[in-house]
Parts: sequence; C-alpha cells; structure tokens
Amino acid sequence: MALFEVEGWNLEGKRVAHGISLSETRKKKRKERKDKRKLERREKYEQALASGDKHEETIEEMIEEEDGAAVTNKRKRPADSDDKETQETKKSKKEVESATSIETAISAPPKMATENLTPLQKKMLNKLSGSRFRWINEQLYTTDSEKALEMMKKQPELFDEYHKGFQSQVEAWPENPVDLYIKQLIFKGVNRAINSPGGLPGLEIRGKKTVVVADMGCGEAKLAEEVNKFMEFYQKDSKKALKVFKKKYGGNGDISSKNKKLYFDIHSFDLKKVNDRITVADIKHVPMEDQSCSVVIFCLALMGTNFLDFIKEAERILIPRGELWIAEIQSRLADEKGEEFSSILSKMGFKHKETDNSNRMFTRFEFFKPVRDGENELEEVEEMRKERKEGEWLLKPCIYKRR
Ligand code: SAH
Repeated sequence: MALFEVEGWNLEGKRVAHGISLSETRKKKRKERKDKRKLERREKYEQALASGDKHEETIEEMIEEEDGAAVTNKRKRPADSDDKETQETKKSKKEVESATSIETAISAPPKMATENLTPLQKKMLNKLSGSRFRWINEQLYTTDSEKALEMMKKQPELFDEYHKGFQSQVEAWPENPVDLYIKQLIFKGVNRAINSPGGLPGLEIRGKKTVVVADMGCGEAKLAEEVNKFMEFYQKDSKKALKVFKKKYGGNGDISSKNKKLYFDIHSFDLKKVNDRITVADIKHVPMEDQSCSVVIFCLALMGTNFLDFIKEAERILIPRGELWIAEIQSRLADEKGEEFSSILSKMGFKHKETDNSNRMFTRFEFFKPVRDGENELEEVEEMRKERKEGEWLLKPCIYKRR
C-alpha cells in the first residue's frame, strides 16, 4: 500500500476557512487541538534533529496519542457545549485559518520498530511514515545542498525513509522517468554509432568510444544497474539481450543491433551510499574531471534551493557536444511549457534541444553544451540568484498535500 494517498505531486494551495456549520465547528476545533499537538511534536523533533539526537518518543506513545484522539472524537458532548462553540467559532475564523495552515508544519515522528503490530498499529505506522516522508522531502526542497548532505550524514536512515516514500509515489505514476532514460540510453546506443548524428555523445577512452554518464542524484542507482546489466548480456548475445530488454521496458519502434561497439561508463552520485554503484557527493561538486563526461542526467534531482549550482557543475564536467538531460515534476515549473527554465539554462551557456511535456507528471528537457563558448549571460543569472534563490522562483519546491 502506498504510504500516503496523493494523486500526483501537488503543491500546497492556501486554504481558507468559510461558511462554518455546527458540526464543522466541532471538527475544526478538534483539528485545531490536533494540529497544535502536531506542531509541538514537530518542534520537539526538529530540536532533536538539530542537536543530532534521536527522537525519544516510541511507537507506543505515538499510537496511544493518536488512538486517544480517535476515542475522544467518538465521545458525545453535552448539549450546551454547541452554543459556546458557535460563539467561539464566530470570533475564531482567523484562528481556524492559521490552524489549517499548520497542516503544512508536518511533524516528523520517530522511526519505529515494525514487529508485532496490530492492524490498527500498522495503519498508524503507515500514517507516521507518510508524515516523516513529507517532512524529509520538504527539508530537501527548502534547504541548500550542503545542509542536505550534512543532514543525511548525521541521520542516514532519513535517506532510506525518503526513498521508501519516493518509490511508492513514482510507482503510482503511469511512467517512471528513470525508466525512460534507461530506454533512451540503450535504444540510442544500439541504434546509432557513438558521436554520429542522432547517436549518443561519447569520449575516446583506451581506444573505445565510451558514453560516460553522470547520474546526479541517482537514488538507488537503478539507471547504472539496469544499463550495466543489459550491456553484460548484450556483449554475449545482442539479439537475445534486446529481446529481453524490449519485453521488460516496452519497445521503442524497431531496434536492430547495429552498434556492437557500445560502451558505457556510468557514475552515480547521491547523498548516501546505499550500494556499491554510488559515490557520495553533493552534486554541486562531484569528483569528476573537467570535460570528462558526455551525458549528465538529473532525474527529479534538482532539489536544493541552490540547484543552479548543479547545472554549473554539469557544464564543468561535460565535453563540448555533451548532453544534459533533466526530468522535473511538472507542477514545479513556473510556466506550463518550462520556457523560463529553458531560457535560464540558455543564459548559462546551454543550447536547448527539446522539451517533452507529453507526460502529465513530469517534463523532460534536453540541452547540449556548445562546441564554442558562445555569449552567455551568466552574470545576469547570478544577479538574479543574489536577489532570490532559484528554489523560490525558477522551480517551486514540491511539497506534498496532506490528506
Ligand atoms: N534519480 C533517481 C532518484 C530521484 S529522488 C530516480 O529518478 O529514481 C532525488 C534524489 O536526489 C534523492 O535520492 C536525493 O537524495 C538526491 N539529491 C538531492 N539533492 C542532492 C544533492 N545535493 N547531492 C546529491 N544528491 C542529491
């Protein structure tokens, strides 16, 4: 079951309280009390995080608290309490508004043991995991990348929890963008020679034309895993490898194994080393030489408020004609077609190749690094960044709605 029920990735809209009836009044008041408790818990948790301590509450305490609230809700109130509440409600429209806005201040409950739980406890645990996921997600979108790395180093378990929630989210989508990139690398790679028109760009490494990929913010490095697995098979039996691949990922028109001289070297970077494929790095600065890479991919990874630093890093490591592939959540874009985003990257020196917004959930951009440094307007972009961090205007943070 998904950790939380959200249709897509929704940005928070400001809620306004209006037309409050008697039963709504009770609900609102209960909610106010609940939100207050949540806020207190969140503050407590944040203090604990800031000091590097683990939160001390246990699952039993959390569940008891939530259970208690549920029981209280069922209790019948004395008849005269309604009047009092109506009066209070009239004067507290403002309070209700501010209380509902507390919804965004999600508490990040502690990680808990999962053995021996009753179904109700399991349900509550799912709810709490959802809250933790939303909280971690919000941190990653609203702090700069150095702080994100620091946070994951201090509390590595946050990464695993984030990815559990992230996976259950993207699994609900009709298509996962990372699968599209796996397909794109394989199909382009096998169909056309490296560095030929329409083919993938590559570098000559020890006499072999090699597509050097940097997967920035790789998560669990599925891209490297799948492409390498395919290549191992392809080198032994290309026809069979393609048949199996097509079956798993779906066909992309005709694929004939024209290009037998295909080599990949994939570098996967993220904030935690969950497996051997991953190198830990803040993608603002990765351990790769200048012009040592031919394809840089950011698949839903422009998370820090300083994400244009990641783009500058891509520019540094890419060879001329090297490609920059970006997939981002549709609702993060300032305009529907992502024109502002493309125009800022052009000002930073990239040439725009195409934008694909055929998918409802995410948009994919492709750029390349021009052979000769053209006129760029990097200084102008830097001035804009000084006024306001790009995480506030160019791509909005992707904060989940609480249900
Ligand atoms: N690209 C993967 C994972 C996307 S989730 C996929 O599509 O499946 C976004 C990832 O970006 C997370 O794993 C997060 O840890 C990573 N990330 C965010 N900011 C980062 C930074 N500054 N440096 C490295 N990784 C970062």
